[in-house]
Amino acid sequence: MKILIVFGTRPEAIKMAPLYHELCQSELSLFQSYQGVEDSKNKFEVKVCVTAQHRKMLDQVLDFFEIVPDYDLNLMQPNQTLNGLSANILLKMDEVLIQEKPDLVLVHGDTTTSSMVALAAFHLGIKVGHVEAGLRTFNKHAPFPEEINRQITSRIADIHFTPTEQANRNLLKEGILQKNIVETGNTGIDALFWTLNKMETKNYTNPEIEQLKNSLPTNKKIVLVTGHRRENFGEGFQNLCQALLKISEREDVVIIYPVHLNPNVKEIVYELLSNKVNIQLIPPVSYPTFVWLMQQSYLIVSDSGGIQEEAPSLGKPVLVTRNVSERPEGVAAGFSTIVGTDKNEIIKNIQDIMDNFEGFGLQKNPYGDGNASRKIIEYLLNQA
Ligand code: UDP
Repeated sequence: MKILIVFGTRPEAIKMAPLYHELCQSELSLFQSYQGVEDSKNKFEVKVCVTAQHRKMLDQVLDFFEIVPDYDLNLMQPNQTLNGLSANILLKMDEVLIQEKPDLVLVHGDTTTSSMVALAAFHLGIKVGHVEAGLRTFNKHAPFPEEINRQITSRIADIHFTPTEQANRNLLKEGILQKNIVETGNTGIDALFWTLNKMETKNYTNPEIEQLKNSLPTNKKIVLVTGHRRENFGEGFQNLCQALLKISEREDVVIIYPVHLNPNVKEIVYELLSNKVNIQLIPPVSYPTFVWLMQQSYLIVSDSGGIQEEAPSLGKPVLVTRNVSERPEGVAAGFSTIVGTDKNEIIKNIQDIMDNFEGFGLQKNPYGDGNASRKIIEYLLNQA
């Protein structure tokens, strides 16, 4: 079976990396045997195409996971509109798909890359597998444009690899047949375990981690902050920064904030938070560095989806700076709290955790157990 994996952004790359190594049965594969499968060697021919919807942040991930794409469409352009990006993805993917003629295209999640690559494959009659399928807010405007991207991809996909039971239910409600849904857990948890394993067994470190070890005080509680959602551009980010300024007055805190490269985020954050006591602004860090930072942190404040999924495995609470989440499982289990972007609400929730949080103890991560890519492979091997 010839498989083409396509992705374009940092989170997609992180979550597709373990699956890639599994499909290739490379030395970096986490699993070497599969349930119900005698010989998995050479069952797949695997090609990787990146649209590079994010350039720098994608390259950091490719480097760490040792993935060299067969096709790099290099589509990131300054001030690119979503329509411009979509059109370019469709055009370029036509060439790649016609040349490679894969049996299956695998896309991930909810980006413009996922939905447009799925559409391009559909136009050519090529099957599509959707990894991290079935997440929903049921509000087509939030998150924008992710909710529509994931719904478009679901309409097109032939096979849906879902992270949770809730995701299965969402798809069934939309008329997707049970036989086309495979619940696997989230491959992001595989990537996290892969990374923790590399850190522990190989004593992995890098210059970013070493530098942070020097700059972060050891006697303070670390609040780790990220943000990138379009729905928070403008007022949302302004409120978040005002709230962080207030929190930074505490003597027991240090705020570390790897700032997303999107100018709509970067400009506001640097304008309001540069050179403030107890606040460190840094460029986005590589994935292993971010995992290390999560481990060191006391609390995470973020609008990220992936971080909500990773944090439970590290026992870290997340305050979600959004009004809605397509990841209700972590909220229901008490790992994350939706706090929106009201300044006072953010301050109140941070203070509350800083003063009262006593740890989660041992609990199961609702998003997966690190076996998602193995389950996807087992399904595909049984089809091959
Ligand atoms: N991440 C990273 N470096 C950073 C911030 C985050 O590698 O400076 C990782 C994080 O561990 C998670 C992913 O990027 O795996 C989340 O990406 P993002 O928040 O951009 O997207 P989302 O998950 O919301 O789609």
